[in-house]
Amino acid sequence: MPERIAVYPGSFDPPTYGHLDLIERATRMFDQLIVGVARNDEKSCLFTADERVEMLKLVTEGLPGVEVTSFEGLTADFARTRRAVALVRGLRVISDFEFELTMAITNEKLNPEIDTVCLMPSERYLLLSSRLVREVARFGGDVSLFVPPEVEALLRVKLGRE
Ligand code: ADP
Repeated sequence: MPERIAVYPGSFDPPTYGHLDLIERATRMFDQLIVGVARNDEKSCLFTADERVEMLKLVTEGLPGVEVTSFEGLTADFARTRRAVALVRGLRVISDFEFELTMAITNEKLNPEIDTVCLMPSERYLLLSSRLVREVARFGGDVSLFVPPEVEALLRVKLGRE
């Protein structure tokens, strides 16, 4: 049986416990999981793509079969070059569905060999997003329930709260 490789693309600005929950689930389903930080909208992000890659590497250390890298351009092309059979995405609430369905159908057209697999997180991460973390951190709130300690520390530095 060939290795089953999946790509988990996203902004991860910053990585949260919700992303980690999905990464852990996906590692049980695939031989290799490539977490791909999209470089496309770098300017609108709080962290640079390199910083997001470093944070993801830190928090996934020790998880077998996980590789973290960044990519530019279409996710469908990146997945093709990495010989992936699936794209992993997350579904939290109904409002995610329309966006994820549109992306899945588009990626299907761009690369019919790849299936999109949507995973649901644990209930405690259902309302968690990177955007929420950025907002709470910006105003000095406690984000320890939302992100690993390494990310929390880097958020403090980035927001000048250190
Ligand atoms: P993007 O900008 O591509 O949406 P994100 O980093 O915000 O990048 O999210 C990447 C993927 O992870 C998306 O499919 C998103 O729905 C999913 N995701 C983000 N946070 C959570 C969470 N708390 N639980 C489950 N899935 C999540």
